[in-house]
Amino acid sequence: MAKEKKGVRLDHVSKIYQDPKTGKDFYAVHDANINIEPGEFVTLLGPSGCGKTTILRMIAGFESPNEGEIYLGGEPINELTPNKRDTAMVFQSYALLPHYNIFDNVAYGLKLRKLPKDQIAEKVHGILGMVGLEGMEDRMTNQLSGGQQQRVALARALVLEPGVLLFDEPLSNLDAKLRVDMRNEIRRIQQQAGITAIYVTHDQSEAMALSDNIIIMKKGVVDQIGDPHTVYYHPVDEFVADFIGESNFLRGSISKKDGESGLATIEGHEVEVASIGHLSEGDKCVLVLRPESAQLAEEGVLPCKVTLSRFMGNYQNYQVMVGDTLVKITDFNPKNHKIFEVGDEAFVKFGKEDVHVL
Ligand code: ATP
Repeated sequence: MAKEKKGVRLDHVSKIYQDPKTGKDFYAVHDANINIEPGEFVTLLGPSGCGKTTILRMIAGFESPNEGEIYLGGEPINELTPNKRDTAMVFQSYALLPHYNIFDNVAYGLKLRKLPKDQIAEKVHGILGMVGLEGMEDRMTNQLSGGQQQRVALARALVLEPGVLLFDEPLSNLDAKLRVDMRNEIRRIQQQAGITAIYVTHDQSEAMALSDNIIIMKKGVVDQIGDPHTVYYHPVDEFVADFIGESNFLRGSISKKDGESGLATIEGHEVEVASIGHLSEGDKCVLVLRPESAQLAEEGVLPCKVTLSRFMGNYQNYQVMVGDTLVKITDFNPKNHKIFEVGDEAFVKFGKEDVHVL
């Protein structure tokens, strides 16, 4: 659908705002370096206030960077007004025209571009088919459900055939079930349209489900960029490990280094580690262990005492103490394993590949 898929590049981009309370300047975005390939689906993920929306608005042209340059399709765009940029935005608020029907809402941007009527009709019908609203052209948008309004908003942006589609938390106003349905729809439509998409969310599962790559932001800074597998299994720091899924942090020190692999001492016990990265013997370390990568067993790596054991239907939830460290364990095959009860002495079991060293 897009005339031409376009990539986006941010080169040392910063945005400074004034804090309304203190009157002091601060970096809402600091030295962001981002490269988005044509056709990629990328999410900007992070907690409230980390600068996600500011980055999106700078790409759209609603804000200008104080430092750095933004490129779209290889061309610098800092000086271009929003309407001169080959982007279209889908807003959280939908931003529909309430007294217009679906057809007129979707056709609006094309009419501004003064396209001939028959071309407008053809494009609008094509897009409405793609977003699953065929036959509903005459319905007024203020009579639609939230999910339908979101589809109209998506159609309105897509019909402009932008090089890059920008999404600002588009599903925030929908209930949980509809959010999941709509995010699958958005991914399907983006792939069908073959368009570059940049999507802002603070919902990590939304980011995992949608993205080719996730940009994780922390306090105005790009903390990590990677595909969902990389950011989950190879987080760069505790912030990412904690923000994407659940993590246990086992704190200790490296007691032996043997090439890539080695031993870490955690709560007085030695743990085999497949890759200790840049750390050396004696260095402090944090082992990231995902709850579903650990098992509770009669023999294992770390002795523990069970403090919580809860049957959750499709999994068993445990919390155990390894010395002073709380470890969460999720057993997705409880039928295949012994069930431990609160107070039991047991072992946390995991392989040397299951821990990621920070
Ligand atoms: P959220 O998920 O809550 O939307 P976000 O990650 O998108 O958060 P931004 O909206 O980019 O965050 O805001 C980043 C920081 O800049 C925040 O501290 C915010 O309060 C501040 N900020 C945003 N817009 C302005 C503005 N126009 N003037 C001053 N400060 C601003």
